[in-house]
Amino acid sequence: ATIKKVKERGGSAISALTSDDHERLSRKSLIEKRLIHALDRHNLHLLYQPQVNLKTGKVESVEALVRWEDSEIGIVTPDELIPIAEENGMINEIGLYVLESVCTQLKDWQNRGIDMKVSINTSIREFRDKDMAKIFLEQIQLNGCDPSSLAIEITERFALEAEAERSIVKQMQQLNAAGISFSLDDFGTGYAAFRYMLMLPITNLKIDRSIIKSITKQEKMQKLIKGMIQFGKSLDLQVTAEGVETNEQLELLRAMDCDLIQGYISGYPMTAADLEKWLKVSETT
Ligand code: C2E
Ligand code: MG
Ligand code: MG
Ligand code: MG
Repeated sequence: ATIKKVKERGGSAISALTSDDHERLSRKSLIEKRLIHALDRHNLHLLYQPQVNLKTGKVESVEALVRWEDSEIGIVTPDELIPIAEENGMINEIGLYVLESVCTQLKDWQNRGIDMKVSINTSIREFRDKDMAKIFLEQIQLNGCDPSSLAIEITERFALEAEAERSIVKQMQQLNAAGISFSLDDFGTGYAAFRYMLMLPITNLKIDRSIIKSITKQEKMQKLIKGMIQFGKSLDLQVTAEGVETNEQLELLRAMDCDLIQGYISGYPMTAADLEKWLKVSETT
């Protein structure tokens, strides 16, 4: 009877919401509200996860991963935060915030003789701002950091959409020309449309954790991953394996001539200070 009444008032969409939906919506608006606050107060943090070169054993680069623990809602994981911010557009602000923090960190490392590259994650929505590349380059210049110490990670899904958007390709080329490199993240998660390889200035391929996870399970999977690595190499790309957790995975990847690994086996995401300590220890062992 209630539904009928609501419908009569033209409110069928409202009546269709379950209590689960209500809970999800109110959490979403709480996150949105607190995120504004967190950005204002500089309450987002970055952890850095090492990317280890399998040939040299050295850490030449780290990936910056955003972390947020809010005093009211507690920890909000990137997997929850990023989609919400992509939807409401706050991802642009997060992206700039991350870039600014990374630039400051890079400058500090540079001043102290620590040679390190950092890669940051971006969403396609950031690139839909026509001035994004310009703003990024201004920020980098303002901080006096070297653009070639920066890499931008884009997902496969991003690449697929970007290929058809001229202004995005142009902005990527502009950033690339200034020295910033691009990595293709989450490679192999289901958008095998390789034409974007020709259009976009990508130099690194990151095979997704979901694929690396099953490397020891099936011989066929091993052949597939070996093929993915060779595929990357034949295009002169550097290949990174994501989410490497065990020695067995590591040795298989080494035998397959994979260039870099990133995963708990070699290092968790950590604060800049912990990373520096970790680097010193790993240098002497
Ligand atoms: P991603 O870029 O693919 O990052 C790798 C994720 O895998 C990270 O999760 C990292 O903590 C996790 N990871 C690394 N090694 C291992 C491992 O050996 N085992 C397991 N189980 N996990 C591992 P995290 O930090 O939760 O980030 C999730 C996703 O959120 C990222 O996936 C990225 O797509 C997105 N993200 C994170 N920070 C940012 C950001 O600043 N901007 C944007 N746009 N996206 C971000
Ligand atoms: Mg990434
Ligand atoms: Mg990744
Ligand atoms: Mg991934």
